[in-house]
Amino acid sequence: MNQLEVSTPQRTKEIIAKHKFSFKKSLGQNFLIDGHVLDQIVHAANLSKDKGALEIGPGIGALTQALAQQAGKVTAIEIDRRLIPILAEVFEDQDHVNIVQGDVLDINLRQLFTDQFSDYKKVSVVANLPYYVTTPILMKLLEEKLPLENIVVMIQKEVAQRMSAKPGGKEYGSLSVAVQYYCTTEIVCIVPGTAFIPQPNVDSAVIKLTVRDEPAVKVEDEAFFFRVVQSAFVQRRKTLINNLMMVAGKEKRPELTALLESIHIDPIRRGETLSLEEFATLSIALLAVDWFN
Ligand code: SAM
Repeated sequence: MNQLEVSTPQRTKEIIAKHKFSFKKSLGQNFLIDGHVLDQIVHAANLSKDKGALEIGPGIGALTQALAQQAGKVTAIEIDRRLIPILAEVFEDQDHVNIVQGDVLDINLRQLFTDQFSDYKKVSVVANLPYYVTTPILMKLLEEKLPLENIVVMIQKEVAQRMSAKPGGKEYGSLSVAVQYYCTTEIVCIVPGTAFIPQPNVDSAVIKLTVRDEPAVKVEDEAFFFRVVQSAFVQRRKTLINNLMMVAGKEKRPELTALLESIHIDPIRRGETLSLEEFATLSIALLAVDWFN
């Protein structure tokens, strides 16, 4: 079975029928059936036999199979117990493919990296993510500062556009700042619903996040920096000073005005116009005062 390509529509339907598998919408199960898209994902990850790949949500193994041809080792975390025997059958002769049953949000990924990838200097996360948990999964991967080279994932198109948005547009928000703090971003391709079984009712995109050696900007307190960013976007239509007053209190308008002017940020700008550098400067200035927390 393992010689056949899982990703063709016919083979996918055969495997599903053989195992009487029924899709669970609640688990974001949309399986890829487009070999061309798979090639683009795997190519973007820049894998080789001396690198490892962590896949989240292998499904019946379409992407896993493509990764196994390029990487030295593939470890795939799948939440749905019904898929484990199918994956065991597809990869029965492939010792370098390891399936872990569990919820990626519960798994201790640092431990998993030590257990699975200690022989590999570079590891990529490559996945067709379940869309209902895209952001929590990506933020977990980034915040845990795992030793990753890159993350290449299929996600909802709008989310990919928000992650890669530059300041000034309506797509730019706290998610853009958080992702770009840790990574550079590149949209690899836009993928239509026809590339999946069953077809999702949103467009998808493959995004490549290349993890920076150092965060994009220097801040004194990372958690505080992200709190400042969040507060700047609480009400997108409001000016920066009005959003910041929601944390500091209305009576702090004069202090906030003076602080913003001292770092050359016009108080009436909106959060969505601030660059990462400006957010960093703002968070450092606010950390130094005792009336903003
Ligand atoms: N990789 C396969 C493909 O491309 O055909 C399947 C992708 S499908 C979009 C998402 C997969 O993630 C499903 O197999 C689903 O069961 C699994 N999944 C959903 N939530 C998960 C979670 N929290 N942890 C691990 N896997 C999860």
